[in-house]
Amino acid sequence: MEATTNTFLSWLEKEQNKTYENFINGEWKSSLSGETYPVSCPGKNNIVLGHFPYSTEEDVNLAVEAAHQAFQSWSQVPGPDRAAILLKFADLLQDHLEELAFILSAEQGKVLAEARGEVGRAIKETRNVAGDAIRIEGTTLPSEKSNVTAAVKHQPIGVVAAIAPWNFPVVTPIRKIVPALAYGCTVVYKPASETPWTSIKIMELLYKAGVPNGVVNLVSGSGSKVGNPLTNHPLVKGVSFTGSTGVGTRLNEMAARRLVKTQLELGGKNPAVVLDYEDVNVVAKEIVGAAFACSGQRCTSISRVIVLKEKAEELVSAIKEQMNALKVGPSWEPTSTIGPLVNKDQLETTLNYIKIGKDEGATLELGGEVLSEGEMGEGNYVVPALFTNVTPEMKIAKEEIFGPVLSVLEVESFEDALEVANDVEYGLAASIFTNNLSLANRFVEAVESGMVHVNHGTASQAHVPFGGVKQSGYGAYSIGKTNKEFYTNVKVSYFQY
Ligand code: NAP
Repeated sequence: MEATTNTFLSWLEKEQNKTYENFINGEWKSSLSGETYPVSCPGKNNIVLGHFPYSTEEDVNLAVEAAHQAFQSWSQVPGPDRAAILLKFADLLQDHLEELAFILSAEQGKVLAEARGEVGRAIKETRNVAGDAIRIEGTTLPSEKSNVTAAVKHQPIGVVAAIAPWNFPVVTPIRKIVPALAYGCTVVYKPASETPWTSIKIMELLYKAGVPNGVVNLVSGSGSKVGNPLTNHPLVKGVSFTGSTGVGTRLNEMAARRLVKTQLELGGKNPAVVLDYEDVNVVAKEIVGAAFACSGQRCTSISRVIVLKEKAEELVSAIKEQMNALKVGPSWEPTSTIGPLVNKDQLETTLNYIKIGKDEGATLELGGEVLSEGEMGEGNYVVPALFTNVTPEMKIAKEEIFGPVLSVLEVESFEDALEVANDVEYGLAASIFTNNLSLANRFVEAVESGMVHVNHGTASQAHVPFGGVKQSGYGAYSIGKTNKEFYTNVKVSYFQY
């Protein structure tokens, strides 16, 4: 498909308003409730993209039992064979990249270029993680006895509940499903209510790649009706959750009661500290890119710029220049660089924080207006906002907004910058811009965050562990070797001969 506005809109015209089902034990099944709910397009709220099952606990039970049954055989499939299926899945994602990007862009609202980037990222992660199926190393240890060997191996934990948010509906489920399968686990996946459409395609492709019946199951519906019973199901042995800190904490409490493992990827309030630079425009470009990709609805978005006082004016002016070049518009317009927010609630939340910022005495330098003229009034469009004169105790400096709002805080010294950077409850990603190696190193050591970037924005890579500390994460980081901690149990054996 060639991506012009017309091809996208005629594709959408053809594909919209269909009814979809859950995927359980290799079959498409309506919810036992008989109910569906509509999902609408963030760029044009009156377009109903599709109707998805409004599932209940009974649907969850069917899916978990299917996954439990399938675990008995899937866990016995040799690692190299599991890897081969996952590599085939990566090829299929590649073949269907444009279609997946269209669906993703239609339901999430991110511009097509970003949607393609997300699918590309999912392909890279799949190719990388598929290989983990053949790298599940154990260890042997020297024994106390000459006729006994002592060994440690890793066994899959069983059925994993995967629960995802709406901001990266292709990469997030794949970041959970692919490692689960690589390590020999089976999965019941609940997508966010806002973005279940991409999951339908992901299930189709997994099945086409040769994933056996029951190994991956999809149950869509609300957090309380699907997510809760899924987390509490006695046959679920691990919960991999990405979403808000509030929901993640509650799920963790539930899982803890059954001593079930969790892998939680949660919120962020990510700082970019600016000390010095050769070219202010390079720094501004990195910051603006990382702040407003996905309309600021990224857990790793930069939302606080912490800059030395003497650099503030020059940096703010360069950031404004970069922001003025952004073009808010429908995700399918090639000229748009920022799409709409995912829904009206998210728009309201963002506008509320903009009001709070002004009420608290910060200066709204730029943006923050809702676009309501003509076609734009049919979607959830807001111009990215920049605040200056922000102080560390203000709500806009402390709370995760999850929208296109960037705050600039001025500080006197590196020590102050570090203190402000750490003075939030989150600890996901952080950037520092400086050519002073010693300060960069001190920052990398002392900043309380899971991921640190020196001289670039908060963008991660497809083969490097991903996660946060403090209120931003709990349990094993995702991507790469760290997944082994979550998806496997340790088995120790003593062998006498
Ligand atoms: P959310 O409200 O926490 O929802 C995340 C998922 O949990 C959704 O599938 C949701 O279902 C489900 N859920 C809600 N209540 C539940 C319950 N009681 N039991 C079980 N599941 C439940 O988060 P969101 O608004 O979708 O996403 C935004 C948040 O995700 C932000 O805080 C962002 O920082 C975080 N995030 C973190 C990362 C990371 O890697 N650290 C990545 C992306 C996003 P419904 O959709 O049906 O409500």
